[in-house]
Amino acid sequence: MAATVIDGKAFAAQVRGQVAEHVARLKQDHGITPGLAVVLVGEDPASQVYVRSKGKQTVEAGMKSVEHKLDAETSEADLLKVIEDLNNDPSIHGILVQLPLPKHLDEDLVINSIAPEKDVDGFHISNVGLLGTGQKSMVPCTPLGCLMMLRDHHGSLSGMDAVVIGRSNIVGKPMAQLLLGDSCTVTIAHSRTKDLADVVRRADIVVAAVGRPEMVPGDWIKPGATVIDVGINRLDAPEKGEGKTKLVGDVHYESCAAAAGAITPVPGGVGPMTIACLLANTVTACCRANGLAEPEGLTA
Ligand code: NDP
Repeated sequence: MAATVIDGKAFAAQVRGQVAEHVARLKQDHGITPGLAVVLVGEDPASQVYVRSKGKQTVEAGMKSVEHKLDAETSEADLLKVIEDLNNDPSIHGILVQLPLPKHLDEDLVINSIAPEKDVDGFHISNVGLLGTGQKSMVPCTPLGCLMMLRDHHGSLSGMDAVVIGRSNIVGKPMAQLLLGDSCTVTIAHSRTKDLADVVRRADIVVAAVGRPEMVPGDWIKPGATVIDVGINRLDAPEKGEGKTKLVGDVHYESCAAAAGAITPVPGGVGPMTIACLLANTVTACCRANGLAEPEGLTA
């Protein structure tokens, strides 16, 4: 039977709709407008696209959007001052510093200077610790999006075997923590894992976050398993015309879809969920800051 295609684009639109509804209620009932500030240092073209998209979707959801575009040569002290001002600004509930930062800036220092309760990327060391100990935290957006899609598809994940391929701080590790929190039996695989094919074949849920185009072939997938493809890889596509490119994930889509019970496509799977979850985290942060009930289904 053909795999169910998990439509991240449609799901993200639904999440954005829920966020917009909650924002409207916050405005109407409490006179509060959630605010998100994005800080971009330098002119990395991909980062500029992400920041534009985040700003646009923030405004579309009815929230306040603030962008700080700083010169690539900005000193660490000046960047920290911008963050301190945002930490102290009551109209800002979420702060995101677009990564990667120019080499002369210490990413850990900068991220850890964001007030943890405004850290809507969930990368602050306090949020990492809270997630690791199963306490209420700000959860990194991409893994949160994956978790929402898995819960939506399966209902309960309890007792399922999950393999996360990749152990980065922004995707692999928090993903594994979230799956553990939902009572999966979790294996984290990485570049030193022996017999990766055998490890993946045991899994009811495979989350691929590797950054290697189409690395996971269909014959690694247990029949009926759910495959979440986090990878975004741009490949040359001469068949589409000279200089054209196409996006592929970390799994080989056609062969994995033939074996899986459900699969996320690339593009249109995990990608759109990331910004939707950023908006969700901003509303959550705003509700927590004001001692109000958090929106249901938009947090881990
Ligand atoms: P990183 O490069 O930080 O981490 C990659 C991980 O994959 C590492 O843990 C590495 O292992 C592991 N790995 C590399 N090669 C292999 C291999 N041959 N076998 C098994 N494991 C391997 O990447 P990210 O986590 O930041 O991103 C992963 C992918 O997700 C990328 O394609 C990225 O573009 C995409 N992404 C997508 C997002 C979205 O919104 N959809 C958001 C963030 C990322 P080791 O630790 O041993 O080196």
